[in-house]
Amino acid sequence: MPNPMDEFLSLGLNPQLQRACTAVGYTKPTPIQDKAIPLLLQGHDVLGIAQTGTGKTAAYALPILMRCKYAQGKNPRALILAPTRELVMQIHSVMIGLAQFTDLRILALYGGLGPKPQIQALEDGVDILVSTPGRFLELYRKDVIVVKELKFLILDEADKMMDMGFMPQIRQILEKIPYKKRMNGLFSATFPEKVENLSHEFLEFPHKIEITPQATPASQVTQSVYEAPNLLTKLHALAYFMQNPDFHRVMVFCRSKDAANDVEKWLLKSLPKDQVRVIHSNKGQNTRINAMAQFREGNVRVLVTTDVAARGIDIPKVSHVINFDVPLIYEDYVHRIGRTGRAEEIGESITFITLAESYHWAKIEEIIQQKIEIEQLPEGIKIEETPFLEQQDMLRAVDDQRKREDPDFKGAFHDKKWVIKAKAAGKKVPQKKAVTKAGPKGGAVQGPKPIVRNNRPGKNAKFRPGAASNKKKR
Ligand code: AMP
Repeated sequence: MPNPMDEFLSLGLNPQLQRACTAVGYTKPTPIQDKAIPLLLQGHDVLGIAQTGTGKTAAYALPILMRCKYAQGKNPRALILAPTRELVMQIHSVMIGLAQFTDLRILALYGGLGPKPQIQALEDGVDILVSTPGRFLELYRKDVIVVKELKFLILDEADKMMDMGFMPQIRQILEKIPYKKRMNGLFSATFPEKVENLSHEFLEFPHKIEITPQATPASQVTQSVYEAPNLLTKLHALAYFMQNPDFHRVMVFCRSKDAANDVEKWLLKSLPKDQVRVIHSNKGQNTRINAMAQFREGNVRVLVTTDVAARGIDIPKVSHVINFDVPLIYEDYVHRIGRTGRAEEIGESITFITLAESYHWAKIEEIIQQKIEIEQLPEGIKIEETPFLEQQDMLRAVDDQRKREDPDFKGAFHDKKWVIKAKAAGKKVPQKKAVTKAGPKGGAVQGPKPIVRNNRPGKNAKFRPGAASNKKKR
Protein backbone atom coordinates (compact mmCIF):
# COMPACT_ATOMS: atom_id res chain seq x y z
CA MET A 1 0.00 0.00 0.00
CA PRO A 2 1.46 3.39 -0.90
CA ASN A 3 2.44 5.61 1.96
CA PRO A 4 -0.09 8.44 2.04
CA MET A 5 2.76 10.88 2.61
CA ASP A 6 4.14 9.86 -0.79
CA GLU A 7 0.93 10.78 -2.52
CA PHE A 8 1.13 14.42 -1.46
CA LEU A 9 4.90 14.35 -1.96
CA SER A 10 4.43 13.35 -5.55
CA LEU A 11 2.34 16.46 -6.17
CA GLY A 12 5.38 18.59 -5.37
CA LEU A 13 4.53 19.83 -1.87
CA ASN A 14 7.23 20.46 0.73
CA PRO A 15 7.66 18.41 3.92
CA GLN A 16 5.92 20.94 6.19
CA LEU A 17 2.81 20.83 4.03
CA GLN A 18 2.90 17.07 3.73
CA ARG A 19 3.05 16.82 7.51
CA ALA A 20 0.16 19.24 7.81
CA CYS A 21 -1.96 17.20 5.39
CA THR A 22 -1.41 14.13 7.54
CA ALA A 23 -2.06 16.13 10.71
CA VAL A 24 -5.45 17.37 9.45
CA GLY A 25 -6.37 13.87 8.35
CA TYR A 26 -5.96 14.01 4.57
CA THR A 27 -5.01 10.51 3.59
CA LYS A 28 -4.66 10.99 -0.14
CA PRO A 29 -5.28 13.87 -2.53
CA THR A 30 -8.81 14.23 -3.83
CA PRO A 31 -9.23 14.32 -7.63
CA ILE A 32 -9.27 18.12 -7.79
CA GLN A 33 -6.16 18.30 -5.64
CA ASP A 34 -4.46 15.74 -7.86
CA LYS A 35 -5.09 17.92 -10.88
CA ALA A 36 -4.92 21.49 -9.57
CA ILE A 37 -1.95 21.36 -7.22
CA PRO A 38 0.75 20.54 -9.83
CA LEU A 39 -0.69 23.13 -12.26
CA LEU A 40 -0.80 25.90 -9.69
CA LEU A 41 2.67 25.00 -8.45
CA GLN A 42 3.92 25.44 -12.00
CA GLY A 43 2.31 28.89 -12.12
CA HIS A 44 -0.57 28.10 -14.48
CA ASP A 45 -3.94 29.76 -14.18
CA VAL A 46 -6.64 27.28 -13.22
CA LEU A 47 -10.36 27.24 -13.76
CA GLY A 48 -11.83 24.71 -11.37
CA ILE A 49 -15.43 23.60 -11.69
CA ALA A 50 -16.04 21.71 -8.50
CA GLN A 51 -18.61 21.59 -5.76
CA THR A 52 -17.76 22.20 -2.16
CA GLY A 53 -16.98 18.88 -0.58
CA THR A 54 -14.49 17.92 -3.27
CA GLY A 55 -11.49 19.31 -1.38
CA LYS A 56 -11.16 22.38 -3.61
CA THR A 57 -10.04 24.68 -0.78
CA ALA A 58 -6.89 22.68 -0.18
CA ALA A 59 -6.45 22.36 -3.96
CA TYR A 60 -5.61 26.05 -4.18
CA ALA A 61 -4.50 26.61 -0.56
CA LEU A 62 -1.65 24.10 -0.64
CA PRO A 63 0.10 25.55 -3.74
CA ILE A 64 -0.29 29.08 -2.36
CA LEU A 65 1.20 28.07 0.97
CA MET A 66 3.98 26.24 -0.83
CA ARG A 67 4.84 29.21 -3.01
CA CYS A 68 4.60 31.80 -0.23
CA LYS A 69 6.77 29.43 1.86
CA TYR A 70 7.48 31.59 4.93
CA ALA A 71 6.58 34.95 6.48
CA GLN A 72 8.12 37.69 4.46
CA GLY A 73 7.86 41.50 4.51
CA LYS A 74 4.71 43.29 5.51
CA ASN A 75 2.40 43.22 2.49
CA PRO A 76 0.16 40.36 1.38
CA ARG A 77 1.31 38.15 -1.47
CA ALA A 78 -1.85 36.15 -1.93
CA LEU A 79 -5.51 37.11 -1.93
CA ILE A 80 -8.46 34.73 -1.81
CA LEU A 81 -11.89 36.25 -2.34
CA ALA A 82 -15.05 34.45 -1.26
CA PRO A 83 -18.68 35.59 -1.11
CA THR A 84 -19.64 35.29 2.57
CA ARG A 85 -17.98 35.79 5.90
CA GLU A 86 -18.73 32.21 6.89
CA LEU A 87 -16.92 30.95 3.85
CA VAL A 88 -14.01 33.32 4.45
CA MET A 89 -13.73 32.02 8.00
CA GLN A 90 -13.85 28.47 6.79
CA ILE A 91 -11.18 28.93 4.14
CA HIS A 92 -9.07 30.77 6.70
CA SER A 93 -9.33 27.90 9.14
CA VAL A 94 -8.43 25.31 6.46
CA MET A 95 -5.37 27.41 5.59
CA ILE A 96 -4.34 27.80 9.22
CA GLY A 97 -4.49 24.01 9.59
CA LEU A 98 -2.44 23.43 6.49
CA ALA A 99 0.08 26.14 7.43
CA GLN A 100 0.57 24.87 10.97
CA PHE A 101 4.19 23.92 10.38
CA THR A 102 5.08 27.22 8.72
CA ASP A 103 5.26 30.76 10.09
CA LEU A 104 2.99 32.17 7.37
CA ARG A 105 0.61 34.92 8.53
CA ILE A 106 -2.92 34.34 7.22
CA LEU A 107 -5.61 36.88 7.89
CA ALA A 108 -9.38 36.73 7.37
CA LEU A 109 -11.16 39.98 6.45
CA TYR A 110 -14.94 40.24 6.55
CA GLY A 111 -17.62 42.71 7.51
CA GLY A 112 -20.12 42.61 10.32
CA LEU A 113 -17.67 43.81 12.93
CA GLY A 114 -15.44 46.86 13.29
CA PRO A 115 -12.35 46.91 11.09
CA LYS A 116 -9.90 47.94 13.85
CA PRO A 117 -8.46 44.52 14.75
CA GLN A 118 -8.17 43.68 11.03
CA ILE A 119 -6.37 46.97 10.36
CA GLN A 120 -4.02 46.27 13.26
CA ALA A 121 -3.26 42.79 11.92
CA LEU A 122 -2.60 44.24 8.45
CA GLU A 123 -0.21 46.74 9.95
CA ASP A 124 1.61 43.98 11.80
CA GLY A 125 2.25 42.29 8.45
CA VAL A 126 0.49 39.47 6.58
CA ASP A 127 1.34 36.98 3.85
CA ILE A 128 -2.08 35.72 2.80
CA LEU A 129 -5.46 37.43 2.89
CA VAL A 130 -8.81 35.68 2.74
CA SER A 131 -11.55 38.24 2.28
CA THR A 132 -15.03 39.13 1.14
CA PRO A 133 -14.88 41.59 -1.79
CA GLY A 134 -16.63 44.37 0.16
CA ARG A 135 -14.35 44.38 3.18
CA PHE A 136 -11.26 44.11 1.00
CA LEU A 137 -12.23 47.24 -0.95
CA GLU A 138 -13.20 49.09 2.21
CA LEU A 139 -9.78 48.52 3.76
CA TYR A 140 -8.00 49.12 0.49
CA ARG A 141 -9.66 52.53 0.30
CA LYS A 142 -8.47 53.26 3.81
CA ASP A 143 -4.94 52.66 2.48
CA VAL A 144 -4.27 49.82 4.86
CA ILE A 145 -3.86 47.14 2.19
CA VAL A 146 -0.88 47.44 -0.14
CA VAL A 147 -1.52 45.34 -3.21
CA LYS A 148 1.68 45.74 -5.17
CA GLU A 149 3.15 42.45 -3.98
CA LEU A 150 0.10 40.32 -4.68
CA LYS A 151 1.16 37.38 -6.83
CA PHE A 152 -1.72 34.98 -6.26
CA LEU A 153 -5.38 35.65 -6.66
CA ILE A 154 -8.17 33.15 -6.15
CA LEU A 155 -11.87 33.77 -6.69
CA ASP A 156 -13.72 31.06 -4.80
CA GLU A 157 -17.42 30.33 -5.31
CA ALA A 158 -17.34 32.66 -8.31
CA ASP A 159 -20.88 31.77 -9.34
CA LYS A 160 -22.25 32.78 -5.97
CA MET A 161 -20.23 35.98 -5.92
CA MET A 162 -21.85 36.90 -9.19
CA ASP A 163 -25.32 35.90 -8.03
CA MET A 164 -24.85 38.06 -4.97
CA GLY A 165 -23.97 41.06 -7.12
CA PHE A 166 -20.27 41.28 -6.30
CA MET A 167 -19.21 41.69 -9.91
CA PRO A 168 -18.60 45.47 -9.73
CA GLN A 169 -16.43 45.05 -6.64
CA ILE A 170 -14.52 42.18 -8.21
CA ARG A 171 -13.86 44.30 -11.30
CA GLN A 172 -12.59 47.13 -9.13
CA ILE A 173 -10.30 44.76 -7.26
CA LEU A 174 -8.99 43.27 -10.51
CA GLU A 175 -8.18 46.77 -11.75
CA LYS A 176 -6.25 47.62 -8.64
CA ILE A 177 -3.98 44.65 -8.22
CA PRO A 178 -0.99 44.08 -10.48
CA TYR A 179 -1.63 41.42 -13.11
CA LYS A 180 1.93 40.87 -14.25
CA LYS A 181 3.31 37.51 -13.15
CA ARG A 182 0.17 36.91 -11.15
CA MET A 183 -1.14 33.40 -10.81
CA ASN A 184 -4.93 33.18 -10.84
CA GLY A 185 -7.48 30.60 -9.87
CA LEU A 186 -11.21 30.71 -10.37
CA PHE A 187 -13.31 28.13 -8.60
CA SER A 188 -17.00 27.71 -9.09
CA ALA A 189 -19.53 24.99 -8.35
CA THR A 190 -21.38 25.70 -11.59
CA PHE A 191 -20.27 27.08 -14.91
CA PRO A 192 -22.97 29.32 -16.34
CA GLU A 193 -22.16 31.75 -19.13
CA LYS A 194 -21.46 34.62 -16.77
CA VAL A 195 -18.74 32.65 -14.99
CA GLU A 196 -17.29 31.65 -18.34
CA ASN A 197 -17.15 35.32 -19.35
CA LEU A 198 -15.45 36.21 -16.09
CA SER A 199 -12.90 33.47 -16.68
CA HIS A 200 -12.01 34.99 -20.06
CA GLU A 201 -11.53 38.37 -18.40
CA PHE A 202 -9.54 37.19 -15.47
CA LEU A 203 -7.54 34.09 -16.41
CA GLU A 204 -4.68 33.72 -18.84
CA PHE A 205 -4.61 30.47 -20.83
CA PRO A 206 -6.26 28.64 -17.96
CA HIS A 207 -6.28 24.91 -17.47
CA LYS A 208 -9.86 23.86 -16.94
CA ILE A 209 -10.47 21.19 -14.36
CA GLU A 210 -13.96 19.86 -14.14
CA ILE A 211 -14.46 17.43 -11.34
CA THR A 212 -18.11 16.68 -11.77
CA PRO A 213 -20.26 17.45 -14.79
CA GLN A 214 -21.98 20.79 -14.60
CA ALA A 215 -24.01 21.10 -11.43
CA THR A 216 -24.26 17.38 -10.81
CA PRO A 217 -25.02 16.52 -7.23
CA ALA A 218 -22.60 14.24 -5.44
CA SER A 219 -23.51 10.69 -6.35
CA GLN A 220 -23.52 9.48 -2.77
CA VAL A 221 -26.56 11.63 -1.95
CA THR A 222 -29.94 9.90 -2.15
CA GLN A 223 -32.50 12.45 -3.27
CA SER A 224 -36.20 12.20 -2.46
CA VAL A 225 -38.89 14.62 -3.53
CA TYR A 226 -42.31 14.79 -1.89
CA GLU A 227 -45.42 16.54 -3.04
CA ALA A 228 -46.67 18.77 -0.22
CA PRO A 229 -49.78 20.80 -1.00
CA ASN A 230 -49.13 23.71 1.34
CA LEU A 231 -47.00 25.27 4.03
CA LEU A 232 -48.71 23.64 6.99
CA THR A 233 -48.38 20.18 5.46
CA LYS A 234 -44.68 20.87 4.89
CA LEU A 235 -44.35 21.73 8.56
CA HIS A 236 -46.10 18.50 9.55
CA ALA A 237 -43.82 16.56 7.24
CA LEU A 238 -40.74 18.19 8.72
CA ALA A 239 -41.86 17.33 12.23
CA TYR A 240 -42.60 13.76 11.10
CA PHE A 241 -39.14 13.22 9.66
CA MET A 242 -37.52 14.72 12.72
CA GLN A 243 -39.07 11.98 14.86
CA ASN A 244 -36.67 9.58 13.19
CA PRO A 245 -33.41 9.38 15.16
CA ASP A 246 -31.49 8.71 11.91
CA PHE A 247 -32.03 12.41 11.21
CA HIS A 248 -29.32 13.30 13.66
CA ARG A 249 -27.60 16.22 11.96
CA VAL A 250 -30.02 17.99 9.68
CA MET A 251 -29.82 21.17 7.65
CA VAL A 252 -33.18 22.68 6.67
CA PHE A 253 -33.02 25.14 3.78
CA CYS A 254 -35.59 27.87 3.36
CA ARG A 255 -36.02 30.41 0.62
CA SER A 256 -36.32 33.44 2.90
CA LYS A 257 -35.35 34.66 6.34
CA ASP A 258 -39.00 34.79 7.37
CA ALA A 259 -39.58 31.22 6.31
CA ALA A 260 -36.46 30.15 8.22
CA ASN A 261 -37.73 31.90 11.36
CA ASP A 262 -41.16 30.24 10.98
CA VAL A 263 -39.62 26.82 10.55
CA GLU A 264 -37.47 27.30 13.62
CA LYS A 265 -40.52 28.29 15.67
CA TRP A 266 -42.42 25.25 14.44
CA LEU A 267 -39.57 22.87 15.20
CA LEU A 268 -39.26 24.25 18.70
CA LYS A 269 -42.80 23.01 19.38
CA SER A 270 -41.60 19.43 19.26
CA LEU A 271 -37.83 19.61 19.80
CA PRO A 272 -35.83 20.87 22.79
CA LYS A 273 -34.64 24.47 22.51
CA ASP A 274 -30.96 23.59 22.45
CA GLN A 275 -31.44 21.25 19.46
CA VAL A 276 -32.44 23.87 16.90
CA ARG A 277 -30.59 26.92 15.56
CA VAL A 278 -31.41 29.30 12.74
CA ILE A 279 -28.92 31.35 10.74
CA HIS A 280 -29.56 34.00 8.13
CA SER A 281 -28.24 37.41 7.26
CA ASN A 282 -30.33 39.22 9.89
CA LYS A 283 -28.71 37.23 12.66
CA GLY A 284 -25.73 38.81 14.38
CA GLN A 285 -22.23 37.70 13.60
CA ASN A 286 -21.72 35.94 16.94
CA THR A 287 -25.07 34.18 16.80
CA ARG A 288 -24.19 32.78 13.39
CA ILE A 289 -20.70 31.71 14.40
CA ASN A 290 -21.92 30.05 17.58
CA ALA A 291 -24.81 28.29 15.86
CA MET A 292 -22.50 26.91 13.22
CA ALA A 293 -19.89 25.80 15.76
CA GLN A 294 -22.51 24.04 17.88
CA PHE A 295 -23.95 22.31 14.84
CA ARG A 296 -20.52 21.32 13.59
CA GLU A 297 -19.62 19.84 16.98
CA GLY A 298 -22.83 17.81 16.99
CA ASN A 299 -24.38 19.68 19.93
CA VAL A 300 -27.27 20.98 17.86
CA ARG A 301 -29.40 18.62 15.79
CA VAL A 302 -31.05 20.95 13.29
CA LEU A 303 -29.66 24.01 11.56
CA VAL A 304 -32.30 26.02 9.72
CA THR A 305 -30.79 28.31 7.16
CA THR A 306 -31.10 30.31 3.97
CA ASP A 307 -28.94 29.71 0.92
CA VAL A 308 -26.80 32.78 1.41
CA ALA A 309 -25.97 32.01 5.01
CA ALA A 310 -25.01 28.42 4.30
CA ARG A 311 -23.06 28.91 1.11
CA GLY A 312 -19.92 26.82 0.95
CA ILE A 313 -19.98 25.98 4.61
CA ASP A 314 -18.26 22.71 5.32
CA ILE A 315 -19.96 20.80 8.04
CA PRO A 316 -18.97 17.17 8.04
CA LYS A 317 -21.40 14.32 8.52
CA VAL A 318 -24.65 16.12 7.85
CA SER A 319 -27.07 13.19 7.83
CA HIS A 320 -29.93 14.91 5.98
CA VAL A 321 -30.61 18.02 4.00
CA ILE A 322 -34.25 19.08 3.89
CA ASN A 323 -35.27 21.55 1.22
CA PHE A 324 -38.27 23.09 2.88
CA ASP A 325 -38.65 25.27 -0.21
CA VAL A 326 -37.39 24.70 -3.72
CA PRO A 327 -34.60 27.23 -4.37
CA LEU A 328 -35.29 29.79 -7.08
CA ILE A 329 -31.62 30.02 -7.98
CA TYR A 330 -31.62 26.52 -9.32
CA GLU A 331 -27.91 25.88 -8.85
CA ASP A 332 -28.44 26.37 -5.14
CA TYR A 333 -30.12 22.98 -5.06
CA VAL A 334 -26.78 21.39 -5.84
CA HIS A 335 -25.07 23.48 -3.17
CA ARG A 336 -27.73 22.62 -0.64
CA ILE A 337 -27.63 18.88 -1.06
CA GLY A 338 -23.84 19.03 -1.28
CA ARG A 339 -23.91 19.65 2.50
CA THR A 340 -24.60 15.96 2.94
CA GLY A 341 -22.72 13.04 1.44
CA ARG A 342 -19.43 14.89 1.87
CA ALA A 343 -15.96 13.33 1.71
CA GLU A 344 -17.16 9.88 0.67
CA GLU A 345 -19.93 9.72 3.29
CA ILE A 346 -23.43 8.83 2.17
CA GLY A 347 -26.24 11.29 2.74
CA GLU A 348 -29.88 11.95 2.01
CA SER A 349 -31.77 14.95 0.78
CA ILE A 350 -35.51 15.52 0.98
CA THR A 351 -37.33 18.19 -0.99
CA PHE A 352 -40.90 19.33 -0.43
CA ILE A 353 -42.67 20.77 -3.44
CA THR A 354 -46.00 22.51 -3.79
CA LEU A 355 -47.94 22.85 -7.00
CA ALA A 356 -46.36 26.25 -7.63
CA GLU A 357 -42.89 24.87 -7.04
CA SER A 358 -43.17 21.97 -9.48
CA TYR A 359 -42.27 24.37 -12.30
CA HIS A 360 -39.00 25.25 -10.56
CA TRP A 361 -38.37 21.63 -9.74
CA ALA A 362 -38.55 20.75 -13.45
CA LYS A 363 -35.87 23.38 -14.11
CA ILE A 364 -33.69 21.90 -11.39
CA GLU A 365 -34.07 18.46 -12.94
CA GLU A 366 -32.75 19.92 -16.18
CA ILE A 367 -29.73 21.35 -14.42
CA ILE A 368 -28.88 18.21 -12.49
CA GLN A 369 -29.63 16.11 -15.55
CA GLN A 370 -31.62 13.69 -13.47
CA LYS A 371 -35.27 12.79 -13.20
CA ILE A 372 -36.42 12.10 -9.70
CA GLU A 373 -39.79 10.57 -9.04
CA ILE A 374 -42.08 12.81 -7.03
CA GLU A 375 -43.52 10.76 -4.20
CA GLN A 376 -46.57 11.08 -1.99
CA LEU A 377 -45.77 11.99 1.60
CA PRO A 378 -45.50 8.96 3.87
CA GLU A 379 -48.65 7.87 5.63
CA GLY A 380 -49.00 9.36 9.05
CA ILE A 381 -48.32 12.90 7.90
CA LYS A 382 -51.36 15.11 8.22
CA ILE A 383 -52.30 16.59 4.84
CA GLU A 384 -53.89 19.96 5.48
CA GLU A 385 -56.44 21.74 3.31
CA THR A 386 -54.79 24.62 1.52
CA PRO A 387 -56.06 27.94 2.86
CA PHE A 388 -57.83 30.05 0.24
CA LEU A 389 -55.24 32.83 0.08
CA GLU A 390 -52.33 30.41 -0.15
CA GLN A 391 -54.15 28.55 -2.90
CA GLN A 392 -54.72 31.78 -4.78
CA ASP A 393 -51.06 32.76 -4.48
CA MET A 394 -50.06 29.38 -5.83
CA LEU A 395 -52.47 29.49 -8.75
CA ARG A 396 -51.30 32.96 -9.60
CA ALA A 397 -47.68 31.77 -9.51
CA VAL A 398 -48.58 28.86 -11.80
CA ASP A 399 -50.25 31.28 -14.20
CA ASP A 400 -47.18 33.49 -14.22
CA GLN A 401 -44.98 30.49 -14.90
CA ARG A 402 -47.15 29.44 -17.84
CA LYS A 403 -47.07 32.95 -19.20
CA ARG A 404 -43.30 32.98 -18.96
CA GLU A 405 -43.16 29.81 -21.03
CA ASP A 406 -45.87 30.87 -23.44
CA PRO A 407 -46.34 34.63 -23.95
CA ASP A 408 -49.67 33.97 -25.70
CA PHE A 409 -51.09 32.24 -22.65
CA LYS A 410 -53.72 34.56 -21.25
CA GLY A 411 -53.83 33.26 -17.71
CA ALA A 412 -56.48 30.66 -16.99
CA PHE A 413 -56.57 31.44 -13.31
CA HIS A 414 -56.98 35.17 -13.74
CA ASP A 415 -59.64 34.78 -16.39
CA LYS A 416 -61.54 32.22 -14.42
CA LYS A 417 -61.45 34.19 -11.20
CA TRP A 418 -62.48 37.30 -13.06
CA VAL A 419 -65.44 35.50 -14.51
CA ILE A 420 -66.38 34.09 -11.10
CA LYS A 421 -66.10 37.52 -9.54
CA ALA A 422 -68.18 39.16 -12.21
CA LYS A 423 -70.84 36.47 -11.91
CA ALA A 424 -70.86 36.74 -8.14
CA ALA A 425 -71.44 40.46 -8.47
CA GLY A 426 -74.40 39.71 -10.73
CA LYS A 427 -72.69 41.36 -13.68
CA LYS A 428 -72.88 40.23 -17.22
CA VAL A 429 -69.82 38.18 -18.03
CA PRO A 430 -68.03 39.84 -20.89
CA GLN A 431 -66.60 37.93 -23.80
CA LYS A 432 -63.15 36.54 -23.23
CA LYS A 433 -61.59 39.15 -25.47
CA ALA A 434 -63.06 41.97 -23.45
CA VAL A 435 -61.94 40.36 -20.20
CA THR A 436 -58.32 40.06 -21.20
CA LYS A 437 -58.00 43.53 -22.64
CA ALA A 438 -59.92 45.62 -20.17
CA GLY A 439 -60.15 44.03 -16.77
CA PRO A 440 -60.95 46.16 -13.74
CA LYS A 441 -58.16 47.98 -11.96
CA GLY A 442 -56.82 46.93 -8.57
CA GLY A 443 -57.98 44.03 -6.40
CA ALA A 444 -56.34 40.71 -5.89
CA VAL A 445 -58.39 38.91 -8.50
CA GLN A 446 -58.72 40.50 -11.88
CA GLY A 447 -58.16 40.03 -15.57
CA PRO A 448 -54.79 40.87 -17.04
CA LYS A 449 -54.04 44.57 -17.17
CA PRO A 450 -54.88 46.39 -20.40
CA ILE A 451 -51.97 46.67 -22.75
CA VAL A 452 -50.66 50.21 -22.53
CA ARG A 453 -48.48 51.25 -25.39
CA ASN A 454 -46.07 54.13 -25.58
CA ASN A 455 -45.92 54.46 -21.85
CA ARG A 456 -42.14 54.49 -21.83
CA PRO A 457 -40.45 57.85 -21.86
CA GLY A 458 -38.10 58.61 -24.72
CA LYS A 459 -34.38 58.63 -24.11
CA ASN A 460 -34.27 62.23 -22.90
CA ALA A 461 -37.77 62.60 -21.62
CA LYS A 462 -38.31 63.13 -17.92
CA PHE A 463 -40.81 60.55 -16.81
CA ARG A 464 -42.93 61.66 -13.92
CA PRO A 465 -45.64 59.25 -12.95
CA GLY A 466 -49.00 60.92 -13.32
CA ALA A 467 -47.59 64.01 -15.08
CA ALA A 468 -49.76 65.59 -17.75
CA SER A 469 -47.32 64.75 -20.52
CA ASN A 470 -47.40 61.10 -19.56
CA LYS A 471 -51.14 61.06 -19.33
CA LYS A 472 -51.35 62.56 -22.74
CA LYS A 473 -49.25 59.79 -24.15
CA ARG A 474 -51.56 57.25 -22.74
P1 AMP B 1 -13.89 21.61 0.48
O1 AMP B 1 -14.40 21.10 -0.82
O2 AMP B 1 -12.63 22.34 0.35
O3 AMP B 1 -14.93 22.38 1.24
O4 AMP B 1 -13.53 20.33 1.41
C1 AMP B 1 -14.49 19.43 1.86
C2 AMP B 1 -14.03 18.52 2.97
O5 AMP B 1 -13.08 17.58 2.50
C3 AMP B 1 -13.35 19.25 4.12
O6 AMP B 1 -13.90 18.74 5.33
C4 AMP B 1 -11.91 18.88 4.03
O7 AMP B 1 -11.28 18.84 5.30
C5 AMP B 1 -11.97 17.51 3.39
N1 AMP B 1 -10.78 17.18 2.60
C6 AMP B 1 -10.14 18.00 1.74
N2 AMP B 1 -9.10 17.36 1.17
C7 AMP B 1 -9.10 16.11 1.67
C8 AMP B 1 -8.26 14.97 1.47
N3 AMP B 1 -7.25 14.98 0.62
N4 AMP B 1 -8.56 13.85 2.16
C9 AMP B 1 -9.62 13.82 3.01
N5 AMP B 1 -10.44 14.87 3.26
C10 AMP B 1 -10.18 16.00 2.58
